[in-house]
Amino acid sequence: MSGRYGGKDRRHGGRPDPQRRGRSERPEQPEIRGRRDAARLGEELRRMSGASYGRYKSLRGEWEFDDFTLSIDRVQSDPFAPPSRISVRVPASVAGMPERAWRSPVRRRATADYLVRRAYRALKGARLRIDTGGQEVIERASGRIEDGDILLRLGIELPGHGRRIDARTAESELCERLPAMVEALRWEEIDADDAVAFADTVEDTVALRDQLSSLGLVAFVADGSVLPRRSGVSDLPMDGSAVVPFVSPETLRVAVKLPHRGEVSGLGIPEGITLIVGGGFHGKSTLLHALERGVYDHVPGDGRELVVTRPDAVKIRAEEGRRVERTDVSAFVRNLPTGADTGDFSTDNASGSTSQAANISESLEVGASTLLVDEDTTATNLMIRDTRMQALVHGDREPLTPFVDLVRPLHRVHGVSTVLVMGGSGDYFDVADNVVMLDGYRPYDVTERARELASERTGAAFHAPEHRVIDQRSVNASVRGRSKIKRRDMDVLTFGESDIDVRHLAQLVDPGQIIGVGLALRMLSEDGLLGEGRTIAEALDALDGRLAEDGVVALGQGFAGDYALPRRFETAAALNRLRTLRVQRLRRP
Ligand code: ADP
Ligand code: MG
Repeated sequence: MSGRYGGKDRRHGGRPDPQRRGRSERPEQPEIRGRRDAARLGEELRRMSGASYGRYKSLRGEWEFDDFTLSIDRVQSDPFAPPSRISVRVPASVAGMPERAWRSPVRRRATADYLVRRAYRALKGARLRIDTGGQEVIERASGRIEDGDILLRLGIELPGHGRRIDARTAESELCERLPAMVEALRWEEIDADDAVAFADTVEDTVALRDQLSSLGLVAFVADGSVLPRRSGVSDLPMDGSAVVPFVSPETLRVAVKLPHRGEVSGLGIPEGITLIVGGGFHGKSTLLHALERGVYDHVPGDGRELVVTRPDAVKIRAEEGRRVERTDVSAFVRNLPTGADTGDFSTDNASGSTSQAANISESLEVGASTLLVDEDTTATNLMIRDTRMQALVHGDREPLTPFVDLVRPLHRVHGVSTVLVMGGSGDYFDVADNVVMLDGYRPYDVTERARELASERTGAAFHAPEHRVIDQRSVNASVRGRSKIKRRDMDVLTFGESDIDVRHLAQLVDPGQIIGVGLALRMLSEDGLLGEGRTIAEALDALDGRLAEDGVVALGQGFAGDYALPRRFETAAALNRLRTLRVQRLRRP
């Protein structure tokens, strides 16, 4: 299945995964032997025909084509090893992009993404591969624009007949398909309106997200948006007559001006506590999923181009069985039957409620401003406790302070908003600032009616969790001197000797981001960002600083594979799930 922008549907990984077969990454220097004329590449390949596969290594280095420079960076040692790696530089004079396609960082990212998708389509059926995105437009190492030059990184399975070089196929890949792909990227070959619309769309999305704070909103869902997806395993928009496009309730309608599209109207979700209610199957979770992904930009035609959420919004869920390392969950949990200190709580096997409490604390620790919560994936006992249960199980026997008692101080005192889907309990009426009801996929503002049904609620005090200082040595990417960063589908990040379970990180949306998280962890530990007594939040600030300066490629020093930019929240989440992680000490923020 493929969308308009050729993005394959990749919620579940989509295609065979080169990272999966590889052993560890081997940083390898290309041979420095100066540039060779590409006219000789074909010649040289033909000479190698039938020779032993290892001779491919002699191709390493740069080759000058008429229109671009090919660099053969890393050559696989046999036909079954992970694909070889090459890069391509197309100079601005050949690319011919007008400056308006790439003048701002946002347009540069968008147009690079557009070109990578185009390259991906041009390579259909080839042995050459380029890593491209799904419905989200996320900065990735496979395509960049630098002063109008196009820089691409690709993989290629160098062909063999058994362990002998298949020169004819290699020549057709490198000397025909590759130049044809480059040709397809020249501006004169591109439908300029389409490319410009792509960048305009991304620029509008970013402008919309940038306005949220000043409008006092945590999220915005434009009228006409299409939120539902084609199926549970597809991220493409639902189509057909069954789709109910989004229409905002008038009382919560906000108009926003965008640079290209002009004025758009939609639902503005204000700061504070917003409750999404409604009967089962009326679209509550679909709305929340769209908000989760609203931290990213979407391709035109996705239906969620103008659904945006604060960039530091974090999905919270229960995650039974996860490890927790010295996290302060005392706001939620006290007096455990084990007598454990919940201000400094560790476990190798968290319960539903303690895992969710840890997820909240850890997100706040690294700066989440908005929590996104869906009753479908929460621990009920951490969310609510009704009066009958309170009468039966006395306060001093119940270690949990339910979220409903904390959600207000969380906002009033700490400035953290919550958007919560809750169809099963009216307890949150007491604390909600706004209540939106979905009925047949249409939202209605039912705040007034919910207020009439609300009761007084005393609530509890919330204190911000302690910050943690990591023992840097407990975060180790290498195995026998080489860094090992791989992934298994969207489920597992292998980092050094450890497997990190990332299955439940809803806002890790791109396979490349999983590798990006692994590389970010490596940088945190190997570049000393976690050292010098820095807290996790301070280390991530330092990391973000580098990424802002050098872009996603700052992560990939010596790494030959594909990767995309993760958010700090997912990097922190992976760190927190690393089973070797050791916290040195806690520090008051
Ligand atoms: P809830 O969380 O309220 O139980 P879901 O969000 O899981 O409901 O949605 C139930 C079903 O309705 C899903 O199959 C979803 O794809 C579909 N759906 C959601 N929103 C829309 C919409 N706007 N138009 C058409 N179908 C929708
Ligand atoms: Mg639901």
